[in-house]
Amino acid sequence: MTEQHTTAPVPFPARVVVDLAAIASNVGALRERSGAAGVMAVVKADAYGHGLVPAARAALAGGASWLGVAQLPEAIALRAAGITAPVLSWLHAPGAGFAEAIRADIDLGLSAVWMLDEVAAAARTTGRTARVQLKVDTGLGRNGAYLFPASTGAATDWSALVDLARRLEAEEAIRVTGLFTHFAYADAPDHPTVRAQQEAFAEAVAEAERAGLRPEVRHMSNSAATLTTPAAAWDLVRPGLAVYGLTPAPEIGSSSDFGLVPAMTALAQVSVVKRVPGGQGVSYGHTYTTTGPTTLVDIPLGYADGVPRHASGLAEVFVGGQRHRIAGRVCMDQFVVDVGDLPVRAGQEVVLFGPGTRGEPTAQDWAEAVGTINYEIVTRFGPRVPREYVGGPGGGQEAR
Ligand SMILES: *Cc1c(COP(=O)(O)O)cnc(C)c1O
Repeated sequence: MTEQHTTAPVPFPARVVVDLAAIASNVGALRERSGAAGVMAVVKADAYGHGLVPAARAALAGGASWLGVAQLPEAIALRAAGITAPVLSWLHAPGAGFAEAIRADIDLGLSAVWMLDEVAAAARTTGRTARVQLKVDTGLGRNGAYLFPASTGAATDWSALVDLARRLEAEEAIRVTGLFTHFAYADAPDHPTVRAQQEAFAEAVAEAERAGLRPEVRHMSNSAATLTTPAAAWDLVRPGLAVYGLTPAPEIGSSSDFGLVPAMTALAQVSVVKRVPGGQGVSYGHTYTTTGPTTLVDIPLGYADGVPRHASGLAEVFVGGQRHRIAGRVCMDQFVVDVGDLPVRAGQEVVLFGPGTRGEPTAQDWAEAVGTINYEIVTRFGPRVPREYVGGPGGGQEAR
């Protein structure tokens, strides 16, 4: 007899719970701080690990009027899910699928003359006018066309980008819908670059408008600037991290200081629990050794899932109503904690991090333990771990 395969779902012993109501309320809090400016919710990198489409819908429900992504495939995925809100995508390499993006009505954030050339060619093949937002480097020194007059009339200059954009507008290949830039130091609002970049952006906007461009939206504020430098709001703010309830400037304020609620909770079920004597080395390389009879608890999440290997011996998890430090090395699929004499059973819930309201660590605590930023903690949680959505109209487990 041949056996029949069943299609019953097989559970994964860990999950990331995403609170969509928190995302919506965080967008509301950001709107309140932004005066008349709209909110472009940044949902790049799978919405910072929270799930692109559900997070985007929650942000729109909370009052975001735009969505922002880095990569074009992310923008196309939003359209494929039926999201019709304006979407800006700003990171491209030659050969990007601009024609597809133009057909999908995506605003293209462009930093270089070659990008405008490729977009204009794609617009001609589609017979449509491409929506373009020009990005200026006002001091970050990353992407964006270079503003400063010390540069030499090179094709990488802001003036060159503006001039070509104006010519392409005249032939209706493109329409410039926006101008934008990005801060280097928004998490330190008193740093001199914060003011200097605002002034430089005002100059760049003035130059573009003198050349005849009429952008609908001018924007520069990431999460930190939205929360600490309201004067930089222009027509839109462009927060990412704060949408998910994490603080972009932990030295200045916590999530709750800024009225934000962390949306992500990472949970696992205890796998194996065992009593061991003192002197037992734990996990690869035995970097931790038990000091007396104790209980070791194995937790089925590892660096392949996004638990940083640098958390070995440093980060804490919440189990049995207490925090316990990771004992020994984080492995690919699992790690161990030493809970002493605490009664813990297989299947019991362990919280790696969450909003902190039950005493569990936060993503910010993990970031400090590991020596990184909270952005990296949440975005690293990978596709192997199922997302569960709560607090939204379509709650429950969902494919992303
Ligand atoms: C990622 C990103 C943002 C959002 O930054 P946060 O610090 O998460 O608010 C905004 N604009 C650009 C260009 C980005 O790359």
